[in-house]
Amino acid sequence: MSERLTIIGSGPAGLTAAIYASRANINPLLFEGFQEGGIPGGQLMITSVVENFPGFPEGILGPQLMAQMREQAIKHGTRMIMEDIIEVDLQKRPFSLTTSGGETYTTEALIVASGATARRLPLESEKRLWGKGISACAVCDGALPVFRNRELAVIGGGDTAIEEALHLTQFASKVYLIHRRDALRASSVMQQRIISHPKVEILWNKVVEEFCGDTKLACLRLKDTATGALSELPVVGAFEAIGHVPNTGFLKGQLDVGEVGYLKTLPGSTRTNSPGVFAAGDVQDATYRQAITAAGSGCMAAIESERWLQERE
Ligand SMILES: Cc1cc2nc3c(=O)[nH]c(=O)nc-3n(C[C@H](O)[C@H](O)[C@H](O)COP(=O)(O)OP(=O)(O)OC[C@H]3O[C@@H](n4cnc5c(N)ncnc54)[C@H](O)[C@@H]3O)c2cc1C
Repeated sequence: MSERLTIIGSGPAGLTAAIYASRANINPLLFEGFQEGGIPGGQLMITSVVENFPGFPEGILGPQLMAQMREQAIKHGTRMIMEDIIEVDLQKRPFSLTTSGGETYTTEALIVASGATARRLPLESEKRLWGKGISACAVCDGALPVFRNRELAVIGGGDTAIEEALHLTQFASKVYLIHRRDALRASSVMQQRIISHPKVEILWNKVVEEFCGDTKLACLRLKDTATGALSELPVVGAFEAIGHVPNTGFLKGQLDVGEVGYLKTLPGSTRTNSPGVFAAGDVQDATYRQAITAAGSGCMAAIESERWLQERE
């Protein structure tokens, strides 16, 4: 028998959608993912303290927050399967979904909440010091006490890198923007703001060769892309802002996407171009990419899919 509602993804968007849908007696099926597009629980599983999710004045560990959301979804009746969806057919209803285990499920309505993956530098030292001074989200981690009044670095040259660097100037004593080229890709307004900022120094034509430090980040080893010269930059925090990739591979082009590959939804809604398919969280959000906005759109997707099912039934 066909499912009424299936949710793909177990980050804040998918689990919030699951909590709302199960409380509406829809009894949804949720694919938590396994290894495609991150891990079960989503991006917050790879961070430590989350200080900006409302309701936790002392902060809460990312994995603990996700475990609690998962427990809440199960308590209200969500059924979970820890597998990846590798293919979907959205051309006819019920929609069909194929798992990595080779099984096929059908569903009347679908919420895609498969998130996005932050691009990371492929360095052994980056893996070793990840979360110990290295992060991929300045808005999330920049205000942590360890970074206050210290020298920090942002790696990247697009609008996001500049936004992250400007955000960090509120806490850091100095922010270095490390860019591999001799010109920024960002819009001219953003370029002006960053170039004229007294706390920011742009290091042109530089790439990170290695992150150094024993138990926490102490410096970056940089290479000049023009001369090949090596240098060391002492910083206690490094924020990678080299882009995000929305996890949409399994959709194989069946839903409309915007310029940078994020799923398109109708303004003010989670509806996609395919009736009965809703998108929530980072997979459709190139702008905010926060747990609370992901959870908010997960709530919207659950309410919209409930109404859509009611209209059809
Ligand atoms: C290091 C780091 C620290 C962060 N810190 C904060 C913070 O302090 N505060 C904050 O608000 N935000 C923070 N963020 C951002 C926040 O984590 C994201 O905005 C949020 O997790 C997005 O939620 P989501 O549910 O849309 O997607 P995700 O959290 O990305 O979850 C996506 C889910 O989809 C699943 N999935 C993917 N592909 C498939 C598939 N094919 N089949 C089945 N399942 C699939 C994955 O397994 C995962 O469960 C941080 C991000 C990072 C990387």
